[in-house]
Amino acid sequence: MSSSVVVVGGGLAGLSAAARLAYHGYQVTLLEKAPKLGGRAISIPMKGFNFNFGAHAIYARDKSILRKFEKEIKLEVDWRDFSSSKAFYDMGTFTTPMPATLEGLYKTKVLDAENKVRFAAEILKTLSAIERGEDGVLIGDYLKKQPEQIRELLLTVASSNFFTNEPENIPSPLFFAYYKRLFSTQRAVSYIGGGWQAIVESFASIIEKNGGNIITKEKIDKIEVNHNKVTMIHGKEQSYQADAFIFCIPPKELSKLFAETKHESLFTTYTNYQPTQVVVFDIGLSERIASPYTYIYHKGERVFVTDISHYDKTCVPEGGQLLQGVAYLNEEEIKEGQADEKVAIIESVYDKHFAGWRDVLVAKRLSKKATVQEIKSIHDQQLMPVQFYSLKDVYFAGDWCHGEGQLSELSFTSAYEVTSRIMKHEN
Ligand SMILES: Cc1cc2nc3c(=O)[nH]c(=O)nc-3n(C[C@H](O)[C@H](O)[C@H](O)COP(=O)(O)OP(=O)(O)OC[C@H]3O[C@@H](n4cnc5c(N)ncnc54)[C@H](O)[C@@H]3O)c2cc1C
Repeated sequence: MSSSVVVVGGGLAGLSAAARLAYHGYQVTLLEKAPKLGGRAISIPMKGFNFNFGAHAIYARDKSILRKFEKEIKLEVDWRDFSSSKAFYDMGTFTTPMPATLEGLYKTKVLDAENKVRFAAEILKTLSAIERGEDGVLIGDYLKKQPEQIRELLLTVASSNFFTNEPENIPSPLFFAYYKRLFSTQRAVSYIGGGWQAIVESFASIIEKNGGNIITKEKIDKIEVNHNKVTMIHGKEQSYQADAFIFCIPPKELSKLFAETKHESLFTTYTNYQPTQVVVFDIGLSERIASPYTYIYHKGERVFVTDISHYDKTCVPEGGQLLQGVAYLNEEEIKEGQADEKVAIIESVYDKHFAGWRDVLVAKRLSKKATVQEIKSIHDQQLMPVQFYSLKDVYFAGDWCHGEGQLSELSFTSAYEVTSRIMKHEN
């Protein structure tokens, strides 16, 4: 097998697609416009700390496609499971265990005894697909028949998993499909030791060990299309031809590349959709602040703080601590430029639960509009297909494409799907 494949975009989708094909004997070239690989999963070193976007949480580890990459192409993943005993909800006047496990459900004060039983029954109904939602009905409306405490809790949980402060706008079938998968796993949340950097390096090493070529600082800004095929793509200095192309770049970039071709309109719908955006404020501390929490979600403010260094010791210098504060943003808040207010709110959550952080602050990283997912899972917004009927040997992957789960799981599963299609057509 010596078919050649060019992969454009060195984020998690591009890296995983390129690694899988290189491992299976394809001639792979991966092109990334930035000087470093990783895309949104890039690691930024500063004063001895490694800042990442996100706590690299992998939801439903047992079912994650990363397990397949581990077994099939020898991806190295150092799994660190979420400590549910240190995960709490801040309800404003009191904190209470997050009901992430049966023990948490037993202890939590967000539900009274009667609603705990009902909640457990809801989990069973979701698992057995008795609750599936209805097309065209948003989860906020679908759950109106539920007691207030149950509805509130389900929407709060969805806020965290979908990184949104408008969980009521998630389509109900998507909501139940997501939780059917999550509730059926033994490990609902796991982090990755070494952070995204470890995964990025492992994929890159698989590509290189198998003869693949990685070229950074190479922005593809022009393509040639003949009939229904991409025949050539052009970077800054070189041009590339291949038997197949996988574009792992967001719809806005695709629409620029395909502008003035007859395929331009394929991307318009996806370009117009809203992304999921958040404010992220990370702090690197020279010493650990004693706290009973490694994860705390402030329900009223819809802000959460994760002690990333609890799971990943490689992101801090000896004895240090790295905390990540995330505030969800909705469309109105983005338009009204409320990011500064969100930063002040994150600081107040740090003050409340990690008092003294200002005295030991060494480094900080602030992003007022970080894109968590290119296409937000709300209303009628649809993810992009991984292939279009009118384009031959051209594939797409990324967290804006059809796949399983949310966030990076969409990047990995869409990459897995397109590489399977390429391998199927070869054989
Ligand atoms: C604050 C935050 C927290 C998060 N937390 C989590 C989490 O806990 N768990 C989780 O699973 N996910 C999380 N995510 C989401 C996760 O980071 C993304 O889903 C994932 O990194 C997306 O990868 P991708 O390859 O699909 O896209 P991208 O990372 O966007 O990759 C696209 C790549 O293409 C390159 N590119 C673009 N145009 C061109 C061009 N013309 N030529 C060449 N290269 C080009 C870009 O430079 C980039 O490297 C989080 C994200 C954020 C922002």
